[in-house]
Amino acid sequence: PPKKASNSQKDPVGVYCRVRPLGAEDEECCIEVISNTTIQLHAPDGLKANRNGEFKETQYSFKKVFGIKTTQGELFEDVAKPLVEDIIHCKNGLLFTYGVTGSGKTHTMTGSPGQGGLLPRSLDMIFNSIGPYQAKRYVSKFIKYTNSVMLIQFADMISPEEACKADGVDEDSSYSVFVSYIEIYNNYIYDLLEETPIDPIKPKPPQSKILREDQNHNMYVAGCTEVEVKSTEEAFEVFWRGQKKRRIANTQLNRESSRSHSVFIIKLAQAPLDADGDNVLQDKNQVNVSQLCLVDLAGSERTSRTRAEGSRLREAGNINQSLMTLRTCIEVLRENQMCGTNKMVPYRDSKVTHLFKNYFDGEGKVRMVVCVNPKADDYEETLLVMRFAEMTQ
Ligand code: ADP
Ligand code: MG
Repeated sequence: PPKKASNSQKDPVGVYCRVRPLGAEDEECCIEVISNTTIQLHAPDGLKANRNGEFKETQYSFKKVFGIKTTQGELFEDVAKPLVEDIIHCKNGLLFTYGVTGSGKTHTMTGSPGQGGLLPRSLDMIFNSIGPYQAKRYVSKFIKYTNSVMLIQFADMISPEEACKADGVDEDSSYSVFVSYIEIYNNYIYDLLEETPIDPIKPKPPQSKILREDQNHNMYVAGCTEVEVKSTEEAFEVFWRGQKKRRIANTQLNRESSRSHSVFIIKLAQAPLDADGDNVLQDKNQVNVSQLCLVDLAGSERTSRTRAEGSRLREAGNINQSLMTLRTCIEVLRENQMCGTNKMVPYRDSKVTHLFKNYFDGEGKVRMVVCVNPKADDYEETLLVMRFAEMTQ
């Protein structure tokens, strides 16, 4: 098992910013990209007058800023490609999208036809890299899925010219890929790939899952479905299946999808082949497992008082609570790293941070894409997002 790095050796959380284009040309804009690491926030006129200088024109810096012209492929190159290279070299990685609802988190993570996001691109790169080592299976699966609508959906996401590949794949190893897809809502964990028939007349609320710790002190979701996938198309089909389940559950239980966090986990198992290169060695100790977790976080906006009534109040409270815990954890971590202190990081205060405590503490990169919509209407929420990002720098 990989050695645990001490906090001081650990890279800080890498925070990037992506500015989406305005929805309409006549919308007022409050963000200006100053350089490839800095943005400036401009308070809308009304606010400046009302609050009497409380909102100053402020600049915020990031590891890198991606302006409105950034393509999905360019973003992938800088942000996710190094994480995919890492999991091929047996290191874990964790990637978040953070921001207000409508700021482009899902566009960045999942994307749309012709505009595949970080998730399909990561899958594609993994299978492009390990492909030759499971070529036979790949061909058979490809035939099986040729007639599937899912294949078309995936094929539409990334053009072949954009395909990426990692070096350093071990030719004397066999690779297997497993995916899981979970949702964290109201601080409960749900398995989106669990095969439970949905009763259209009397829908039963889904059963939540609990977190456990394995002998290497890694957290995992107990009893969570892991599906072995042998091609990008197959992995993406599993992803769509989870998406569909998420949509149905949200509608039937009257949930607001912007309040849930979705977590897609790509697990890569690498096992050495025997001397002839024909069989996988049946030695558990020689199997290397690494994971890349892709997290599309809940909208960071505060709930307005009128909306947060009754049961919604509790939901809203919890959502904010997990994002707040995430924020506190990153802040304390950073302080420990910068000042050499050893303050306790409150990972256990929310499921999102508890699940990933070893990613923050141990080896592996943690990155966050802060998504922002430049429209002036979002100014106050965007300001809070920026203050959060600033603390983590
Ligand atoms: P979120 O997940 O943060 O709520 P979405 O990703 O759903 O936001 O984005 C809201 C809308 O804006 C979608 O219609 C999406 O296609 C569009 N959008 C977001 N970011 C971009 C971008 N960088 N370029 C073009 N359209 C975008
Ligand atoms: Mg979204």
